[in-house]
Amino acid sequence: MLEIIPIKSAKRVEIMDITPEVQNIVKRSKVREGICLVYSPHTTTAVTINESADPSVKKDILNSLDRIIPTSNGYSHSEGNSDAHIKSSVIGCERTVIIHEGVLLLGTWQGIFFCEFDGPRVRRPHVKIMEG
Ligand code: ZN
Repeated sequence: MLEIIPIKSAKRVEIMDITPEVQNIVKRSKVREGICLVYSPHTTTAVTINESADPSVKKDILNSLDRIIPTSNGYSHSEGNSDAHIKSSVIGCERTVIIHEGVLLLGTWQGIFFCEFDGPRVRRPHVKIMEG
């Protein structure tokens, strides 16, 4: 089973919690035991898992990435979004979560984050559910 989560980012750089959407897809799949892959087919986005309880964690991640990978830094790529490409590669474009007893096996404080690094844009992260 493959589904797409349509996302419209509102800012250039943004982290969005997509855990409820992914969990709904798992529920609809009726898979009790398996693997859930969340994959973003874009070159300036990423998918990560981190603390969803405190929104300041998202802010700290974005601020720290900005310090390590500044918007302008003498990059060669002519589109002017090299920082977004680099952030995408550093975080990675996919995450895998175990499905156990019909739900995502996330820790108490964990959420699945879709990271936008070159918005605002329409994005289409993919969710693949595999039974096993
Ligand atoms: Zn580019």
